[in-house]
Amino acid sequence: MNDWKSANDLQNDVGNDVKGKGELPEGQDYKGEKSFSEAFSDAINSFLESLGELIGVQKSKEAREVDETLSEKAADAMAEVFDQKTLQEWGTMTMEERQAKLSEYYSKLGQSLGIDAKGVIVEDCAATVGEGVLGYNSGDGYLHIDFRNLEDPSKLLDVLNTTTHEARHQLQSEAIADPSRFPEISPSLIKEWEHNMQNYDNGQFGFEGYYNQGVEVDARAFAGDVINGYKAKLGL
Ligand SMILES: [Zn+2]
Repeated sequence: MNDWKSANDLQNDVGNDVKGKGELPEGQDYKGEKSFSEAFSDAINSFLESLGELIGVQKSKEAREVDETLSEKAADAMAEVFDQKTLQEWGTMTMEERQAKLSEYYSKLGQSLGIDAKGVIVEDCAATVGEGVLGYNSGDGYLHIDFRNLEDPSKLLDVLNTTTHEARHQLQSEAIADPSRFPEISPSLIKEWEHNMQNYDNGQFGFEGYYNQGVEVDARAFAGDVINGYKAKLGL
């Protein structure tokens, strides 16, 4: 059984109606009242507050050290690609330029985590998956992200959060497929992930079950740790 290969973060079955890249709208310019970096910094702070105790908690000391190393490397990759210059320019970049930045981050993230990050597919997730889906991962190395994240520059934090979250799902999938490639992650945690992925709850019984399952909590906590580290590196 390869049930764990079924996509994460799906709320409905995936249809065939994928919007081609050519049909994507043009990127909007940032028009907020505050400066872009100020608004971005505010968004990061309220995001981290909303995660609350999920940042850097719950696990054993051993697991925490592993994740600190991984999230530190991922935060480095984020800070390298989404540096101050990129933040200043993000609000007026074209969709293609934003997508190129995102691909660069995903690829660097792949190297940092030791996962197979093949590429980023920007699509209309509301049409392909369901309303409100920001992105998903099928364990095949491709990150699928909703075009709305890129179209509206004030959603940069969603772009970073979703990409990092889905990369963590990719790592979970690869660790399940071959635990020997990830000797630093405890076998019991990988077993838990495997059990969860085989019984992945895509929200058919309500949001809570989806939200509180182990692989989702893990992906959310990881992305939170990375964004927390990124914030410190850039002094946001
Ligand atoms: Zn998820």
